[in-house]
Amino acid sequence: MSLRDGHDRGPERLLIRDLSQVASPAGRAAPVRGPALGEVDVLEEAYVLCEGGRVARVGPMRELGAIEGDVVELDGRGLSAVPGLVDCHTHACFAGDRVEEFALRAAGASYEELHAAGGGILSTVRATRAAGEDALRAAVERHASWMLRAGTTTFEAKSGYGLDRETELAQLRAIRAAGGVPTWLGAHAVPPEHADAGAAAYVDFLLAEVLAEAAELAEAADVFLERGAFDATQARRYLEGCAAAGLALRLHGDQFTEAGAIPLAIEIGARSVDHLEATGHAGVLALAASDVVGVLLPASALFLGRPLPPARALADAGAAIALATDFNPGSAYCESLPVVLSLACTQLGLSPNEALAACTVNAAHVLARADRKGRIAPGFDADVVLVAADDWRHLAYHLAGPVVHTVVRAGRVACSSRA
Ligand SMILES: [Zn+2]
Repeated sequence: MSLRDGHDRGPERLLIRDLSQVASPAGRAAPVRGPALGEVDVLEEAYVLCEGGRVARVGPMRELGAIEGDVVELDGRGLSAVPGLVDCHTHACFAGDRVEEFALRAAGASYEELHAAGGGILSTVRATRAAGEDALRAAVERHASWMLRAGTTTFEAKSGYGLDRETELAQLRAIRAAGGVPTWLGAHAVPPEHADAGAAAYVDFLLAEVLAEAAELAEAADVFLERGAFDATQARRYLEGCAAAGLALRLHGDQFTEAGAIPLAIEIGARSVDHLEATGHAGVLALAASDVVGVLLPASALFLGRPLPPARALADAGAAIALATDFNPGSAYCESLPVVLSLACTQLGLSPNEALAACTVNAAHVLARADRKGRIAPGFDADVVLVAADDWRHLAYHLAGPVVHTVVRAGRVACSSRA
């Protein structure tokens, strides 16, 4: 597979023709939930015409007619098209790796034991603080190139491995420079220099010393609401401060324990609450009755050998759900949304249609981009994944296979397995 210049040049006209299928979540609403979650429009023997970086027309080949003027043609025979995938939850900005920890865990050590032994998040914090902004940007670009090869054309990335003023801001700048949607996760863990004063005092520091500049760089704020990290009172204080500075709100919640993330997310109008492996029946019903999106991260649950989130119950109750990788060096070293789609269908009880909507239109909604990302429709950004099969559902069916043939971003071929 060849990878083109990561910074796509100016727009051109691109005609993707003779596609076996073009599949896109039905309608124009976002997020989709209830029965609409499973509704995907499929055009057979179809084309997609891209102009100026947007989708100009989509339709059956028999209605294509003559195209006037210069146009680059892409042969879609034997391929199917889905919208560019949207990864709405990653920790793609970090230095170093945790392969030693991975091997220790494989030998039986628990996540909490590794954390207590000085591994876990804080080992990535040490490496990230030492790396410098240029190296962080290069790291995000490398990770983004992996995501792109797997069909992700839009990705969010969080800070949260700096945990000091300088490195948190450097992370946010690096994410922006690498084309990611930046989220400020200052409240990811309490760093060693604040350990004696504790989590509440660290939140005071974040709000007083980092928030003003972080709010200029990030689109949203996020917090790790969990036993051993930040409790609901601290999370509320952090998020309310961030909201006052203009940031959208998200939470890591119910990963290991139910610690009040869902009620807090609903009360403060968060865009999403992410993880939900520990969410019980009442939480499912509360989320379903709200506008908060539940972001499910099955790769991280599987990576850690933890219970999976109640995806089927959430979908059946009518909750808006999204799927993401949680790509990070410790608990989900997986940048592939097609793998997550496979897990959603084989482990979470979602249909391919539901899984597709969850990592396209609904993920775009979490990132406030559903008006232009997550569908193949006129006016939408021309982000298209060509699946190497005549039925788009191979994207989920072919577990970890070479299923992404070509990725089009902003109307240009960004990577392709074609020489
Ligand atoms: Zn996460």
